[in-house]
Amino acid sequence: MTTKIIHFMVNGKLEQAEFRADCSAADVRDVFRAAAEAGPHHILKMYNSSGSVVNISPRLEANSERSYYRLEVVASDLQSVAMPPELDDMEYRLHHLESKVMEDMGKSPDIMCELKSHVESFKRKLESVEHLSWMGLFKDDGDQQLSKFSPKPKTPQLSVQEERQQVRRKFLNMSSLQVTEEVREHLKTPIFDNWQWEEAEMLVLLQVMYMDLDFLTAFHIELEVLQNFLFEVYCHYNNIPFHNFQHCFCVTQMMYGLIWLTDLRNKLGRIDLFVMLTSALCHDLDHPGYNNVYQINAQTDLALRYNDISPLENHHCAVAFGILSKPECNILNNLTCEQYKHIRGGMIRCILATDMARHNEILNKFKLIQPVFDFTNKEHKEVLMKIMVKVSDISNEARPMAVAEPWLDCLLQEFFNQSDTEKLKGLPVTPFMDRDKVSKPSSQTSFIRFVLLPLFSELTKLFPCLEVKCHCAHTLNRCSQNQYVHHRRSSLLLSSPFAMCLLLQSSR
Ligand code: 5GP
Ligand code: MN
Repeated sequence: MTTKIIHFMVNGKLEQAEFRADCSAADVRDVFRAAAEAGPHHILKMYNSSGSVVNISPRLEANSERSYYRLEVVASDLQSVAMPPELDDMEYRLHHLESKVMEDMGKSPDIMCELKSHVESFKRKLESVEHLSWMGLFKDDGDQQLSKFSPKPKTPQLSVQEERQQVRRKFLNMSSLQVTEEVREHLKTPIFDNWQWEEAEMLVLLQVMYMDLDFLTAFHIELEVLQNFLFEVYCHYNNIPFHNFQHCFCVTQMMYGLIWLTDLRNKLGRIDLFVMLTSALCHDLDHPGYNNVYQINAQTDLALRYNDISPLENHHCAVAFGILSKPECNILNNLTCEQYKHIRGGMIRCILATDMARHNEILNKFKLIQPVFDFTNKEHKEVLMKIMVKVSDISNEARPMAVAEPWLDCLLQEFFNQSDTEKLKGLPVTPFMDRDKVSKPSSQTSFIRFVLLPLFSELTKLFPCLEVKCHCAHTLNRCSQNQYVHHRRSSLLLSSPFAMCLLLQSSR
């Protein structure tokens, strides 16, 4: 195959490009775009030695150094794109009509003014796309949102290892201090705001949960071992937008809150409470930020290891027991064989149940037993424990607006990362993660309506104190971001202990 040499002048410099005659037009354009250091919104123009514009394509004629082409960049960013011709045309016709009416009547009728103002406002909307900034289109706004979950600015000299050791030192120093009664009580409610606490403090709060449920005494856990265990759990969550240590904390805290709200301490054995809390804590350990569908389609190591069967959940659970296998972290060390088996079995069941692919299977099982639920029935208890972990896992939308909203940004950021990678690698693109298809309202309306609400309302039947309120009025799919925020906020019902604000797409 012959290669072509093209000599061209760009930015005052004589350059040469080489490509095969069979390469694609896009490749050729990319070569020249790179040579001109042009951005995606720039237009390139190529002139031949006689000054005519030529097509930038594989058919571009080879030339000599003396008969070089001239490559020019024509700036054309989003802001400077001309208005659509239809709008220009409409404006012109309106102007023309106005002149005629003026000739006949001597003044412009109201309807004319109204039409003009419509066209003006439409023009303004087209000129400004900033209302889309929350989707990360605009860097300035995006940066503000990123600050919620992006790694805190690090001192350059600090390695991840050193930073973790700092967190450990802070955690151990603080844990000897008394956490106030007020905080301990607040920790038992679903309105607890994770964004107010830093990592070392969250570790202290997790320790408080284990202590206030009397797990240390009941299972002969030494405080130092619990602290080592919690710290290792912290180290095994990745610094990614959503499935990070903060998510682990929130899910565990919701589980803790639910245990108190539903008075589960008087309904289940302490060992089952221990299983539920520890499962919540470990349920997303070492999450890579790409879901099971991606793992399977990309044939990752995890998918290979677990034969495409819940690869992530199997991994989270295996990492948990890996941590527990270190003697200094083993909070199960002083248990009887029987107790160990019970906890291991329970944790495996609960963590594997967080695979959303099994959502309907588990919910349907619970729906069947819910009317005849028996707290002494082993099978019933096992299903309830899975449901409790699942509810905690997807409970962000049951929290106050100020807590829930940043979480949605984090989730979408992780979703978009995945779909962008899928596009780059030519893998099937997961539709609910596609930045071109998903908006905050559309994502939440269907998630709340079809996933969250059916699950939460079933649990509420068993525990009527977990009041679930539905607020079915708005066609959220068509709501703007601001409307979503407004409706979500106005329907927040803080009066009940577990009030949920749910905005559903009206079925009519
Ligand atoms: P996890 O991966 O956290 O163990 O399982 C929960 C999954 O449920 C998440 O990965 C995500 O796909 C979905 N999910 C949880 N909360 C929300 C939410 O608020 N909105 C949407 N659209 N999906 C959610
Ligand atoms: Mn989770």
